[in-house]
Amino acid sequence: MSHELPKVLIPENKIKQKIQDLATEIAFDYRGKEITAICVLKGSYVFFADLIRKIDLPLSCEFIGLSSYGDKTESSGEVKLTLDLTEPLQGRHVIIIEDIVDSGLTMQYLVNNLKARKPATLKVCTLLHKPDALQCELQLDYVGFKLGREFVVGYGLDYAGRFRNLPYIGILEHEH
Ligand code: 5GP
Repeated sequence: MSHELPKVLIPENKIKQKIQDLATEIAFDYRGKEITAICVLKGSYVFFADLIRKIDLPLSCEFIGLSSYGDKTESSGEVKLTLDLTEPLQGRHVIIIEDIVDSGLTMQYLVNNLKARKPATLKVCTLLHKPDALQCELQLDYVGFKLGREFVVGYGLDYAGRFRNLPYIGILEHEH
């Protein structure tokens, strides 16, 4: 197993600044309302934890588990619900907080699944987005950074379970 660290693509300070900008925009858009923020496990928990602490509004947190990849680096298109929410969403102002939208198939599944629970509003916030890889129609309301097709790790994102603890977003240059 290689101990080489992934090359820095987005440094920690840039992520921090982007999170502040996203939080300010969200707090403005939802002023006077209460948000239900949904953390999509596993990948988005680091981003989620940093983002919600910068949103200056009443907010409750929910967690949902989705898995589509296994150890592969390309989307299988197959989405598995590994953990469901504990509270109903009916009448709530819901924001899905996701780490990365690649083919968009996971997000499409999630949006359809949550819409069926009749929230008052439903929006999507993703830290990373790969527009060239998108395979479906999807509305992304808040996007942190747009990427090419490169496979990234760090800041919650893994490769075969590793690298979630890196404080930056990086690229794997060699097979690990
Ligand atoms: P999609 O369904 O949009 O193709 O993929 C969504 C999921 O695939 C993400 O939530 C994430 O778990 C995984 N994924 C997509 N692209 C990347 C990437 O560049 N790096 C990592 N670590 N995971 C990715």
